[in-house]
Amino acid sequence: MATVDRSSKPSFTKSLFLGQVASELVMPYPVMSSEERRQVTALSTSAREYLTTVYDPAKAERDRWVGEDTIRGLGERGLLGLFVGREYGGQGLSQSGYCRVMEEFGRVDGALAVVMGVHQSIGTKPIHLYGNDEQKARWLPDLASGRKLAAFVLTEPNVGSDAYNLETRAERQSDGSWLLNGEKRWIGNGDQDVLTVFARSEQGHVALIVEKGTDGLSVGPRFETLGLKANRLQRVHFKDVRVPAENLLGEPGDGFRIAMNTLNNGRMSMGTSIAGGMKQFLDFTLEHANSRQQFGRALIDFELVEEKAAWMTSQIYGLESMSYLTTGLVDLGAADFSLESAMTKVVASDVGWKALNKAVQVHGGTAYMDDHPLSKAIRDFRIFPIFEGANDVMRAFVALNGLKALSEDLPDVRSLSIGDPAKAIGVLAPYVSGRINRAIRPGRLVGAHPALAKHNALVSEQTVRLRDAAESALRTHGRKVQEKQLLQKRLSSVASGIYSQVAVIGRASATFQRDGLQESGGEKTVAIHFLKRSQREVARQLRSLEINDDSYTRQIGTGVRERNGYGLDL
Ligand SMILES: Cc1cc2nc3c(=O)[nH]c(=O)nc-3n(C[C@H](O)[C@H](O)[C@H](O)COP(=O)(O)OP(=O)(O)OC[C@H]3O[C@@H](n4cnc5c(N)ncnc54)[C@H](O)[C@@H]3O)c2cc1C
Repeated sequence: MATVDRSSKPSFTKSLFLGQVASELVMPYPVMSSEERRQVTALSTSAREYLTTVYDPAKAERDRWVGEDTIRGLGERGLLGLFVGREYGGQGLSQSGYCRVMEEFGRVDGALAVVMGVHQSIGTKPIHLYGNDEQKARWLPDLASGRKLAAFVLTEPNVGSDAYNLETRAERQSDGSWLLNGEKRWIGNGDQDVLTVFARSEQGHVALIVEKGTDGLSVGPRFETLGLKANRLQRVHFKDVRVPAENLLGEPGDGFRIAMNTLNNGRMSMGTSIAGGMKQFLDFTLEHANSRQQFGRALIDFELVEEKAAWMTSQIYGLESMSYLTTGLVDLGAADFSLESAMTKVVASDVGWKALNKAVQVHGGTAYMDDHPLSKAIRDFRIFPIFEGANDVMRAFVALNGLKALSEDLPDVRSLSIGDPAKAIGVLAPYVSGRINRAIRPGRLVGAHPALAKHNALVSEQTVRLRDAAESALRTHGRKVQEKQLLQKRLSSVASGIYSQVAVIGRASATFQRDGLQESGGEKTVAIHFLKRSQREVARQLRSLEINDDSYTRQIGTGVRERNGYGLDL
């Protein structure tokens, strides 16, 4: 696998929109080296042992902070600088290794996982990825040890999903330093030590490191939140804050790219932390359903209870497979993994919430009691579909990137540019009839186990249908496809479903080849269960691209906006 140069290859998901299954990018399923696997196991075990003895999620929620002792203890065990290079006191883990350990935090407590994610995935990451040698030497050792904590400072009162349109200003001074003015909100660790702050300047967006204690920097008051109370969420104000020239990450103008790439990375650890959380929900479910008796038997003996545990198991398997395929792509040098990380984030936050809902249902009233861990999980988990890229924004992002890639691949559409409607409509119309008989050979996943041949064939078939649907969308709507979010959501779901099937086929094939089919019986059942469910969902989404009630939805939407309320008297 290491022989394929992925740095110059297009993204796997964009190739799906072109009707191609780029097998060479994803097969065989990527695995960590045995040396790294041992290191990850040691770190995960150390985290588990330490946290089960000292960390109490309910107390952290009451205290509204995970605790300085916890931070110190995790730092001493090397758990705060997981991907930071060894030369800076970190563990030097790959993206896969890092995300495997993050799963452990998710299993213990959603709030702790978020504090870890803020510090590492988005706080330390910009310096790790974009810092020069001096900047890394200056900040990474303290961050990796936990002597200092990091923050990612992007969101503002008027700027959430539309992060490009920042209002915080940075003005370059004659000595090369920057004068920073503005207000940020909802910043985890905003009151801590090392802040990567994003701002606009005459020279484009910039990413500046601002240290705690700098003149003109003030924080607070702290926000009170529904959940994740152990994550300190702050207002951060900048009043003529002077930032030295050497605190600029990258070049002037790189700021937005740094912010987006950092989030692309962060979304992967959210995927695996949520997988960790789902494993905890499954453990709670089994424990309760085995011990609680109703109608003279354990709850687990009822088919509808058992079904919930089965659903959770196959969804965890699917999410894990997708997450680690994505981290594996990063470790193998993929140049573009933004779509895969966005899809992983959307799936993780959606299925994580559904799994929590099912676990709560099995617990009956027990989980509704304020002191139950699942009650806390409800408070903590609700934010996941919203932050680090709201799910609907991510869906549109995946679909529009796929459509753009396809438009560039179609000889007669390429020159139109999706951005030019007048041109698009004239040229598109005659092409529609010519398109229909064009054969697309999508290719197959090479190396998929023969036991999964039928599912491999279905991946190819769905990929052709995705391309057909995407091409039809381009030709029907031209540039206006950018406004068609109902359509984009479906295309994104299809792409995501296919990607998750690819991940499961790759992972299961690797297991079957390693352990033998006979030995892998349990995993085979889980994999096939996941694949069948996903295929059905993809088919449903493809069907609804053609047959839907969108015109009613739009009419109702217009009506309700005009009436500004329900307005239908009984
Ligand atoms: C607990 C918590 C921790 C956070 N931590 C940090 C942090 O450490 N650093 C930081 O910088 N920020 C942080 N944030 C901010 C977070 O990233 C933002 O909440 C997020 O970017 C969404 O912005 P918004 O909440 O302003 O929602 P908005 O952008 O106002 O969007 C609201 C909703 O509108 C819809 N929507 C928006 N745009 C579109 C679109 N184009 N198409 C379709 N639908 C759309 C979506 O449904 C979305 O959920 C945190 C927030 C919370 C609540």
